[in-house]
Parts: sequence; structure tokens; C-alpha cells
Amino acid sequence: MSQTNAIEARHTIKAFGQGDSAHRALDDVSITIRKGEFFTLLGPSGCGKTTLLRLIAGFEMPTAGDILIDGAEVTDLPPNKRPVNTVFQSYALFPHLTVAENVGFALKMLGRPKAEVAEVTARMLALVKLEHLAGRKTAQLSGGQQQRVALARALAPHPKVLLLDEPLSALDLKLRKEMQVELKRLQMETGITFVFVTHDQEEALTMSDRIGVMSAGKLQQVGSPREIYTRPVNRFVASFIGETNFLPAKPVAGGVKLGCGAVVEAEGEGHTLTVRPEQLRLVAANEPGAIAATVENLVYFGTDTHLNLRLSDGEALVARVQSPPTGDAGFAMGQAVGVTFLPGAARLIRD
Ligand code: ATP
Repeated sequence: MSQTNAIEARHTIKAFGQGDSAHRALDDVSITIRKGEFFTLLGPSGCGKTTLLRLIAGFEMPTAGDILIDGAEVTDLPPNKRPVNTVFQSYALFPHLTVAENVGFALKMLGRPKAEVAEVTARMLALVKLEHLAGRKTAQLSGGQQQRVALARALAPHPKVLLLDEPLSALDLKLRKEMQVELKRLQMETGITFVFVTHDQEEALTMSDRIGVMSAGKLQQVGSPREIYTRPVNRFVASFIGETNFLPAKPVAGGVKLGCGAVVEAEGEGHTLTVRPEQLRLVAANEPGAIAATVENLVYFGTDTHLNLRLSDGEALVARVQSPPTGDAGFAMGQAVGVTFLPGAARLIRD
């Protein structure tokens, strides 16, 4: 089996505008996407994720840098000469054609034999569970059904890479969740490399093999959902994915010193300590080694209780602890408590 990557972008820059008003939508992005993986580009609006996808598709040319698909340089190739296909947020189906005609369209244009077009179309419709609607005009479909047709149409020519630009954002929450599962299944069954763009961190965490987190035209971190969540490299990644705490911290002999004077263990590099609310443990106020804190507020969420804590130097922490199965939360406002971190949970990060 070939070991080449599905996609490689090397030192890619994309600037829009001229001279002083030029704006770098992509600012020296290098990224490698492996064959057969579900890779998500995640970031807030305007971070450059769509621009990167459009460069891979060939709808835009890079200002500098190279794009490789399947090991071959494609930077100068037009979109139709690249072994990729794109699914957009707006499905752009042909309304006057039936579902089956939409799905078979690309193969027909490629001049494939009728029997092959029919066979692939039937297989794709089965894959997205739309066999029963093959003869219907696409204008007479629901949003979710139209999205499935768009997917089947894009998968029919069996591209090496499928690019998906926020394809689920027009769907309501329930349908979006169903389609997330569906997309993941389609990716696994076809083995095609998916590059998925979203600003929704939960969507990225649940579907992806790996995630590339972007901000301000730069790739901030690439890793598995677990790596990104448990080992964020900087403040942006830590705060964009999930809820977290930040405390100013200084590396000292034997650990990291917080503003309140407590010395704790933390891995990583930088002058900010980050720890997730669910990684805090509340113990007795006088427990040796625990950070002294006061409960300022507590909110009961059923299985969880969220506590707002204040440290002696004025810094705040949020803790999420399991509610006791019976009785009250076990804490009261104004109560003095001790705080410890789960082993390995606290990390130092760069700003
Ligand atoms: P969204 O989630 O809102 O689509 P995005 O992360 O996909 O955001 P891009 O669409 O890649 O962001 O845009 C990145 C930056 O480049 C933005 O500041 C945008 O305004 C700018 N930009 C994108 N396309 C063009 C263009 N054709 N001309 C000028 N500026 C552009």
C-alpha cells in the first residue's frame, strides 16, 4: 500500500487585496492529511478554513506555497483536474433532475457506460438510504434528504478526497446530529479521505479522526480530539474547545507556583496553567497540599454541580463535580474548601 498522504499543504499563504490593504487569509499554513482519515478544519468565522479548502479544491490559487494531493503537485491544476469533490453548505442540486439523475450526473458527463452509471447510482442511493426516492425531483425533498443527495452525488465518481464545507449548518439540531453519525459511517464505509470544515467544536470532536484548529489564518494545533482536548498547546485552543480554567503560573523547583502561593504539578511550557472544570477535586479546606478556595456560587445541573470558586489572590476557578445521588450538593455558598487537580490534568500553555 502506498504511504503517500492524501493532502499536503506546504507553507501556504493566501493574501486577498493588494499592497498595504492586503490581508493574509492564510498565513504560512503547513498541514498533512492522511489517506482515509476524517480530518476536520475547526475554527471561528474568518479564520481561513474555507480558504484552505478552496485552495485544496482548486477554486483559489495560493499566493505562495504548494498543494499536493495523493503525492502529486496540483497547485496549477484547475478544479476538474483534481481527484477531489466538494460538498457545499448550499447543496446546489439540479432541481429539474430526479434524485437518481443528480447522483449519476458526474459519471454520465464522464461518458461512463449506462449500465455502470445505473449500478453506481443505485449503490450510492443505498449508501445514503434514499433508494425509495430515486425518481423524485430534488425540489420536492426535505433539507436532510437534499443533503443526502448532495453527498451521494459527490461520492459517486469515487473521488480520492471529499471536501465538505459546513455541509450540516443549514439543518436543524436533531437532523444535524443524525447526519453527523451518517457522515462518519459513509466515510468509514467508503474509505475516502474526508476534509470537513466547521466552526462547531462538538461536531469536530464527535466525528473526526484528527482536527486542525485554526485561528487568524494560522494552524494552531493538529491532533486527535482527545489530544486537542487534553493537551491544548495554547490559550486559544484551550478556550475554543470545551470549557476551561486559566491561572497565571510560574515554573519553580518541584512544580509550578500559582499567584496564591500554592505549588502544584503541571506539564507543558508557558506561564499560564489550564485545567478543565471536571478535572478539579474538592477536598477538606485543611487538606495538606490542597489550594485554599471559597465557594462563591453553585448551580445544580442534575448529575453535575458547577461551583464558582475564588482563590486567596482573587483568581477564579470553575469546578464541575458529580452531584451526590441523594441529598443536597454537599457544598454551601461561602464555604471554605480545598482544591486539588487530578494527576496529569493541569498543563502549562503559551498565551
Ligand atoms: P466562515 O466560517 O465565516 O466561512 P472561514 O474560517 O471559512 O470563515 P474564510 O472564508 O476562509 O474564513 O475567510 C478568511 C478571511 O479571508 C476572512 O477575513 C475573509 O473576509 C477573507 N476572504 C475570504 N475570501 C475573500 C475574497 N475572495 N476576497 C477578499 N477577502 C476574502
